[in-house]
Amino acid sequence: MRLRHIPGAERKIAESPYVVQDPESKRGQWADVFGNRNPIHIEVGMGKGKFIMELAQLCPEINFVGVERYPSVLLKAIQKQNEQKLPNLVFLCVNAEDLGEIFADGETDRIYLNFSDPWPKDRHAKRRLTSPRFMELYDRILSPDGTVEFKTDNRKLFEYSLETVRQCGWRILRYTFDLYDSPYLDGNVMTEYESRFVEEGKPICKLTAIRGDAYPYGNPASVSLGPLRPR
Ligand code: SAH
Repeated sequence: MRLRHIPGAERKIAESPYVVQDPESKRGQWADVFGNRNPIHIEVGMGKGKFIMELAQLCPEINFVGVERYPSVLLKAIQKQNEQKLPNLVFLCVNAEDLGEIFADGETDRIYLNFSDPWPKDRHAKRRLTSPRFMELYDRILSPDGTVEFKTDNRKLFEYSLETVRQCGWRILRYTFDLYDSPYLDGNVMTEYESRFVEEGKPICKLTAIRGDAYPYGNPASVSLGPLRPR
C-alpha cells in the first residue's frame, strides 16, 4: 500500500462514528457495540475496504470489523462508509498484534487475511500475518469452529502459510493455487489488490483453515481444489 501523509487523517479517524475508539474497553462486549449477538468477522489489513464493505452489504446478519493500521489508508474506507452507512461494519485503526487486547477469547468467528504483506526476508518472518505468533493469537480470539481465510498472489508466502498453519495445529479445509480455475471461486468477493493481480493474469492462492479444537475426534482430510500448479 503506497502511503501518503494526509493532513488531518488522525483527527478524522478520532472523530469518525465508524471507528471504534479505545477498542480495548470493548473486550468481551462487542455484542454491545453492534447491538446484537451476530457472529463477528474481521478483516486484518483491509486496506481501503472494498472487500469488507461488499461482504457487509451481502451479509447483514454478520458483524464486520475492518482492521487497518495506517490512518491514511483507513481514511478511504471511512469515506466510503460515510456514504453507505452499513450498520454491521466498524473499523479499527490498530496493529493486528493488539487484537488479543481488543477481543476476548472466542469472541470472533472468522478472520480474513487478504494480500497480506509478504515480508520475504527470513528475519522478518515473525511479521507475516500467518506466522505462528499470529496464528496463536487468532486461535485465542476465534470461537471453537472459527476459521481463517487467506488469499494471496505470493506463492512463497502461500507455501509458507500452508505449512505454518498446519504446524500450529490448524486443519486446512480447502486450498488452491489457482482460485480462478477452481470450484472455490463460487461466491468470491474480490479485494482491491486482487482485481489488479487478476487483471495482470497472476494466479491467486487461497486457503481456509479451521481451528484444531473444532475436530477433537478426528482430522478431516484437506481438500485441494483446482490445479496444484499455476498455469
Ligand atoms: N486487503 C487489501 C489490502 C492489502 S495490502 C486488499 O486485498 O486489497 C495489506 C494491508 O494490510 C495494508 O493496507 C497494510 O497497511 C495492512 N497491514 C499490514 N500489516 C498490518 C498489521 N500488522 N496490522 C494492521 N494492518 C496491517
